[in-house]
Amino acid sequence: MFGFHNTALRINVSQKSFEPLILKDEILRRKLGGKGLATHLLLEHNPPKTDPFGPDNHIIFATGPVAGTSVWGSCRHGVFTKSPQTGFFSESYSGGKAADQMASTGFDAVMIHGVSDDPVWLEVFNGTVHFHSADNLWGLDTFKTEDLVKEWIKQNRPEAKKCGVVCIGPAGENRVSFAVIENDYWRSAGRTGVGAVMGAKKIKAIAFWGNRQKETAAPDLVQKFSKSLAREAKNNPGVKAYRAKGTPMLVDIVNDAGAFPTRYWKKGQSSHIDGINAAALHERCSVIPHSCAKCFIGCGRLATVKSGRHKGLRIEGPEYETIYAFGGLCEISSIEEIAYLNDLCDRLGMDTITAGNLAGLTIEASRQGRIDYAIDYGQVDSIARLLNDISARQGIGDSLANGIKFAAAEWNMEDQAIHVKGLEPAGYDPRILKGMGLAYGTSARGACHLRATFYKPELSGLIDPEQIEGKAAVFAEWEDRLTIFDALILCRFYRDLYQWDELAEMLKGVTGLELDQESMRAIAAEITDDTRRFNLQEGLVPGDDLLPPRFHEEALPETGKIITRDQMDQLLKEYYKARGWNESGNPACQKPSFSNLLL
Ligand code: SF4
Repeated sequence: MFGFHNTALRINVSQKSFEPLILKDEILRRKLGGKGLATHLLLEHNPPKTDPFGPDNHIIFATGPVAGTSVWGSCRHGVFTKSPQTGFFSESYSGGKAADQMASTGFDAVMIHGVSDDPVWLEVFNGTVHFHSADNLWGLDTFKTEDLVKEWIKQNRPEAKKCGVVCIGPAGENRVSFAVIENDYWRSAGRTGVGAVMGAKKIKAIAFWGNRQKETAAPDLVQKFSKSLAREAKNNPGVKAYRAKGTPMLVDIVNDAGAFPTRYWKKGQSSHIDGINAAALHERCSVIPHSCAKCFIGCGRLATVKSGRHKGLRIEGPEYETIYAFGGLCEISSIEEIAYLNDLCDRLGMDTITAGNLAGLTIEASRQGRIDYAIDYGQVDSIARLLNDISARQGIGDSLANGIKFAAAEWNMEDQAIHVKGLEPAGYDPRILKGMGLAYGTSARGACHLRATFYKPELSGLIDPEQIEGKAAVFAEWEDRLTIFDALILCRFYRDLYQWDELAEMLKGVTGLELDQESMRAIAAEITDDTRRFNLQEGLVPGDDLLPPRFHEEALPETGKIITRDQMDQLLKEYYKARGWNESGNPACQKPSFSNLLL
């Protein structure tokens, strides 16, 4: 089928063997690729209730049909598995440059099961796989690992013009439940612990390269589409804002809205916002806009600290979510220090959102005398020590490495810990942005901000943040459109530019499929149903869609706002209805069999 190789690769890392799986057109038409295809493969191949660290859990690297084409925002890949952090469906996406190389290997998805006896790194190229010992890489940080694997490919594979490398750091090796998989130094498949699954399989890195091209249905149409989009979007205000300030521009916006989570979710505004916002970043660091491949927006900030104890530190970031996690929740008051903690997380290979949340919880535990660990708000070096302890699973770091549910239970803080399904929220307080409460509650991977990016319409005034009635239907439409983004695997920040019509044109040019909004929504709904079915087979119950009690009981001091239980109940009820689910949130049937669609 146009836009695909029609092939997935299944690797058994226990036996160092592999086999291609032919993907029928029919399944690709229904699932489109990316998230749709990977969820289908997980449902087919992962036994229910499998141990996330066991040999039966598959980890799937997938691209969408647009990867390898000239479509803007298309150099992006997804990683899918059962999460060790939540025990539920795991999806995590990353940009950079690796996706085009994944697409050049000749596979639409690379799925790995088994557990290796010894550390390995994999080389996936031109329809085949080589297994290499990773004894020399085990223990190294992500940057050194990427450098060494790329150097090996350069020295030993002169025919490889380019190479994409994904890897884990020490946190992944030690199965820290929120370990990430990094590529291009600073790009991460960052949430739900995909790096820990890779570490449990003893896979330190994977290099992707090749020259397998996918055919597109109408190359001229795709070229024309991309050219005119770049021309027309040049003066788009959103594009200009992301290019000028990157995601840190959200610090002032969210803080002004009173929704900037501060002091471990006790406040909605920070008193030191001027030290951590986009202006501070651009003043105190030398900043160059930085782009993933195939991107004209360039939201990335390649920042070098100008002075102080971190002078010369170079990092792509910090992104808004990292600033909120360390600057808001842990009250770190300088952007340079946040860059330092960001760099540490990148090197160890751990998710900054969860890291900041766990540091905040630990600070509260220490202040309340529940643990004997010296740490407090604003103390950068204590937080850095904690991050190292978590990565190495030392002392209390071992409890935290198992995730927030585990640590909160151990410290008798379940009523204070902020998470949904074991995943901590991003930096948008649902007591102000009520639609984000629905997003955190219903996202298959836990308290996720990205499946519908509903902070965008709520912060920009497209919809009243206080509105409850009728909101779930609007939310479902945003979620459906962005589910198509995840099936094609497109960058979220093209969301204003790729409305339904543009997605239809893109799909026609790349795959030849002629789909209107209704048909795309039907595909998206089926993908969402699939993720729900995955979670149901893992034991999801209706209570798992609820928010932590503090959001209902503890008002934000600046605004007096909470989200009431009745409001959340109504949002959920309307959402289940919009999805066609029953009152418990179950899709019509538990698990359809598509076996006949997969050879
Ligand atoms: S907008 Fe940012 S995240 Fe998206 S493709 Fe461009 S640089 Fe990458």
